[in-house]
Amino acid sequence: MKKVLLLRFGELFLKGNNRNIFENLLINNIKNKLNGLEFKFEKTFGRYVIHDYNINLEEEFVNRLTKVFGLYSLSRAFEVDATIEDIENKVLDIDCFNKTFKVCVKRADKKFPVSSMEFAKILGEKVLNKYTSATVDLYKPDIEIKVDIRLNGKAYIYDEIVKCQGGLPLGSAGNGLLLLSGGIDSPVAGYLIGKRGLKIDAIHFHSYPYTSLEAKEKVITLAKKLTDYVGNIKLHVISFTQVQEEIHRCCKEEYMITIMRRIMMRVASKICDKYNLGCIVTGESLGQVASQTMQSMAVTTACSTKPIFRPCIAMDKEDIMNIAKSIDTYQTSILPYEDCCTVFLPKNPLIKPKEDRVENEEKNLNISDLVNKCLENEEIIEIE
Ligand code: ATP
Ligand code: MG
Repeated sequence: MKKVLLLRFGELFLKGNNRNIFENLLINNIKNKLNGLEFKFEKTFGRYVIHDYNINLEEEFVNRLTKVFGLYSLSRAFEVDATIEDIENKVLDIDCFNKTFKVCVKRADKKFPVSSMEFAKILGEKVLNKYTSATVDLYKPDIEIKVDIRLNGKAYIYDEIVKCQGGLPLGSAGNGLLLLSGGIDSPVAGYLIGKRGLKIDAIHFHSYPYTSLEAKEKVITLAKKLTDYVGNIKLHVISFTQVQEEIHRCCKEEYMITIMRRIMMRVASKICDKYNLGCIVTGESLGQVASQTMQSMAVTTACSTKPIFRPCIAMDKEDIMNIAKSIDTYQTSILPYEDCCTVFLPKNPLIKPKEDRVENEEKNLNISDLVNKCLENEEIIEIE
């Protein structure tokens, strides 16, 4: 008898012919995630099994595996030979003192001498004999004892299912560029889109010395926290100071944010071209602020040559905050450092900008020159 981790994946089943590609990616991602730990990996009966790991490090394994996109759940299980006696012994090891319980048997091996229903009943009776304080509850038991009898001559016994991330294996959806501010929403957007399989680079615009060096450090910390889920991130850091000064100097105040965001999109599109990234991702949420109305997003979208994904678009702030807490970015995001968007903030930003008027206002700037300067001063930080 030994302890193993049973891993389950979900949506991969839907992928028809691509299934192999998805599975290989997932297996690779699992192995990478467990890098530095010793274990054996087995692919079997629509599950994966982790064997021969150091039991003292089990929590570390579980902790890492629950962050792998594409895994749906896992169980710490006991593997025994699929004999009536071995299974009974193990089931009786599970502490049912004063508990309600239920036994579920699944039998892939139809040669096993007892039917599933019958065996569940037998096991239930044995548990009742051993633990006189235990009672059976088929609907809401405290403990659900699962017995999985497989074709490989082994049976797996467990009484818990740990929920994992779900989603699709990282990398299965291609590569994109996350606009990462120091705020609450964009790290959540990065996490959510990663969960759909998109591998991300990140881009951050700063306005040093208007924004502090701590503001940049904060973004590095956020990116670092995201790597737990989305793997290594190449962070492109762009100085936006000159762009903002120029807009401030040459354009009407109320256009500040709109034009800024349009330039961000132009720069981001070029970075996508340079690094072969297929889309842009932002933390925008409809109606949250003036720059996130439908009309504002329309005029910024117009400056992107890539599709823009906005995973938080229909989410309430509270829901976004809850995710931020669950991925441990929230406490960093609320540190009070200025973002470049708050520098030169107009009193009355445009809520429904019109594209022709914005274009007209942009004529006061040498846009391509500003974009090029942004690209020239790109700093790359590899976050691992
Ligand atoms: P967040 O919490 O992500 O900062 P927000 O609610 O503060 O979002 P905005 O400041 O309007 O909203 O930014 C909207 C989106 O634009 C952000 O989610 C992010 O994707 C992008 N963005 C804003 N500022 C920056 C920046 N300095 N660098 C890179 N991307 C940015
Ligand atoms: Mg922000």
